[in-house]
Amino acid sequence: MKIKTKFTLYNIIMLITPIVLIGVISVCFLVIFILKYPVEELNISRASLLDPFVFSQALGEFFKSNHGAVWYVILWVMICVLLIVISTTTATRFITRSIENSVNDLAQAAESIRSGNLDFEVMGSDYDEIDNLCTSFDAMRKELKYANEREKYMKKERSMLLANISHDLKTPITSIKGYIEGIRDGVASTPEKMNSYLDTVYAKAEVIDDMVNNLSIFSKLELSRLAFNFEKGDFNSFLRNFVNNYKIDFEKNGIRFKENIPLEKAVVKIDYEKLGRVFSNIIDNAVKYRNPEAPELEVSTFMKDGGVYACVSDNGIGIEPDELKNVFEGFYRVDSSRSIKGSGLGLGIVKQIVEKHGGKIWLKSEGIGKGTTAVVYLPVAGG
Ligand code: ADP
Repeated sequence: MKIKTKFTLYNIIMLITPIVLIGVISVCFLVIFILKYPVEELNISRASLLDPFVFSQALGEFFKSNHGAVWYVILWVMICVLLIVISTTTATRFITRSIENSVNDLAQAAESIRSGNLDFEVMGSDYDEIDNLCTSFDAMRKELKYANEREKYMKKERSMLLANISHDLKTPITSIKGYIEGIRDGVASTPEKMNSYLDTVYAKAEVIDDMVNNLSIFSKLELSRLAFNFEKGDFNSFLRNFVNNYKIDFEKNGIRFKENIPLEKAVVKIDYEKLGRVFSNIIDNAVKYRNPEAPELEVSTFMKDGGVYACVSDNGIGIEPDELKNVFEGFYRVDSSRSIKGSGLGLGIVKQIVEKHGGKIWLKSEGIGKGTTAVVYLPVAGG
């Protein structure tokens, strides 16, 4: 109910209650008065009752000779005044108390927020205006709570990120140092051994290079500092050309490859270089985490929901369904794949690039050993 309506209602109650009570009391007084002082004692004729002057004169005479009746009337007036005072103060107290309660609840909520407690719910009020204020207040509390949790999460993430970066960089660096020491100490005594040592050092340096590269892109994306050059292009022909370059790689790895990309055009906004990174990451993963015995890989696209869906499916090691969302977090690696080389940054980068294209990405897998499908959705470019 609106405050104005409630006030009007209380005003009506404040007006009606004393009128009714005074009416009842007056009737009682009048009956008692008439019984105690019969009308005949007023000493006036019936006809002069209609003449106010004669009537008031008669009343004056009557009260002069009956002092008890004067006190009786004074008592009646006092009771009436008392009734008016009691009923108005009760109604006023009632309405101010109910507004005060709602405002006090809000003040208490503000105090709780100020002291850092955000785990409560701001209750509503009977008054529409205060209720709206409570709703906005509660929405603000929820936002603050979310921001607090997000900040805590980001702090934790940052520390984990630093720990992971130092660990992942330290491992190949330690190994490079070990191999160089080996060369220095003359352990690589033959040219073959020396070559093998140098190859390993080179491979480890490449791991570091790859990681630093990924880190640089990952942080630039996080800080929105990576410039995108979008243009409209046919996604289907882009993907067809892209996977073409991989065919030799698939053959080398004994992967049975299937392509199902229709010839129809799927015009989307593309940053070719960045989208190339997306699919090289997804396809590299499908190759890396392939089925060790009879690896298969399929790339397909289809149009639906005002966009194009691209699916990269493998029959590889698969992922537990409850891990499917986590793999998009920076440095996250599923335990079952830890024996295979990787930094855990690829899908984090992929997700951000796809989202910059206005699209979505998710993984599907029925579990360990059951293969994985990466699905990328890009909306068709308008205009
Ligand atoms: P990386 O492959 O370098 O570890 P990614 O961010 O590309 O990092 O992937 C994160 C994790 O997701 C991987 O470590 C792996 O556990 C899991 N994953 C990604 N793609 C696949 C796939 N096709 N099959 C199985 N697991 C996958």
